[in-house]
Amino acid sequence: MKVSVPASDDYFPGSGDPRYSVRHYDLRLDYRVDGNRLDGHAELEAVALVDLDELALDLHGLDVAKVRVDVAAVARYTHKQGRLVVRLRRTIAAGTAFRVAVRYEGRPRPIADGDDGMGWEELTDGVLVAGQTNGAPTWFPCNDRPDDKASYRIEVTTASAYHVVANGSLTQRHQGAGATTWVYEQPEPMATYLATVQIGHYVARQLPGAVVPMTAVLPAGRLHEYDAGFGRQVEMMEFFVRRFGPYPFAGYTVVITDDPLEIPLEAQTLSIFGSNFLTDDWDSVRLVAHELAHQWFGNAVTASSWRDIWLHEGFACYAEWLWSEESGGLSAQERAEEHWQRLSRLPQDLLLGDPGATDMFDDRVYKRGALTLHALRAQVGDETFFTLLQEWVRRHRHGSVTTAQFTELAAEIAGETAGPALAELFTAWLWREPLPDLPG
Ligand SMILES: [Zn+2]
Repeated sequence: MKVSVPASDDYFPGSGDPRYSVRHYDLRLDYRVDGNRLDGHAELEAVALVDLDELALDLHGLDVAKVRVDVAAVARYTHKQGRLVVRLRRTIAAGTAFRVAVRYEGRPRPIADGDDGMGWEELTDGVLVAGQTNGAPTWFPCNDRPDDKASYRIEVTTASAYHVVANGSLTQRHQGAGATTWVYEQPEPMATYLATVQIGHYVARQLPGAVVPMTAVLPAGRLHEYDAGFGRQVEMMEFFVRRFGPYPFAGYTVVITDDPLEIPLEAQTLSIFGSNFLTDDWDSVRLVAHELAHQWFGNAVTASSWRDIWLHEGFACYAEWLWSEESGGLSAQERAEEHWQRLSRLPQDLLLGDPGATDMFDDRVYKRGALTLHALRAQVGDETFFTLLQEWVRRHRHGSVTTAQFTELAAEIAGETAGPALAELFTAWLWREPLPDLPG
């Protein structure tokens, strides 16, 4: 059978299937850390968006044992190049809800992504999942596109010596003979790339005095180092709630792995840092702020398409500068000037509104994205600017967004007279390559 799935996202045409949408993922995973062995059972509740004769799921490097669809018998399936294509004996009519169940097994491994890997990855003694951008299929069959958000139930059974963290809230934990089953539920819709499982020899500590339940999960031997990099997180949360509006989820967890990690990882309701981030250097602390800010910008409010990545990274980077000022460091204006100087010396051949798949995580997307917000703030004033950020999250939380929706909302909130100047500002920063002058 020829694989001819229509593309969902033009940055990653080989992922996702736009012909159906998943509403809920129920994942049951049995995992042996020793030997890296995964037995999985995934049940997806989905809806056909067009008349469906076949559907594609993304699943990399694992073997499929069984596929079942509840409303139509499976004629056959093929599993090649990370695509599980299921052909049906009869058409599922557009608008019909259906369930797909997949049994699968194997030794999960990350997908190469330049020098790095994405997806399920073994640590020295445990596991981390780095989902962005297309790592989810390394551990469960999914419709891997950023705009297809679903709720999740993630059940993991593994040796009792390990602590397991996944998205959402821990709702059950049963200890059996040698193995423990952990059940996490994430009721708010989540993009596939934000789904995660973290397994390690960890202890969990609630952070006292937080306005939102906050937990630190780390090796017991590193508890004494925690405060250096993460000691002000409770304050940071309070500040961001003041700036961005109510925290969008039931809680927030930071996992610190015993292994060092080059960069922290973003997931819904949690962030993952390597032990090398247990320091009070600004370059570490700024990322503590960055990852927390992603809960609003990226996780609750998610770009429909990867081309709009500045709506995640520019906003999270601007949150770093806001925290810098709030915590007694350089002001947002000083940070903006510093990064504007730096950017002005770099090639100006990147379009922030459409950076391309290769450059979507280029540092210029982060910094120019933050500078765009800073320029906007200078133009409309603090009150309008922070009202806009809060309204952006309030209107779109748990949904998907585009850059056009943001610029339209900015125009709506700033008022009619501000319109032409705002349009000019967004055109210069988002849709032209040369770096505009920094106001102020
Ligand atoms: Zn980020």
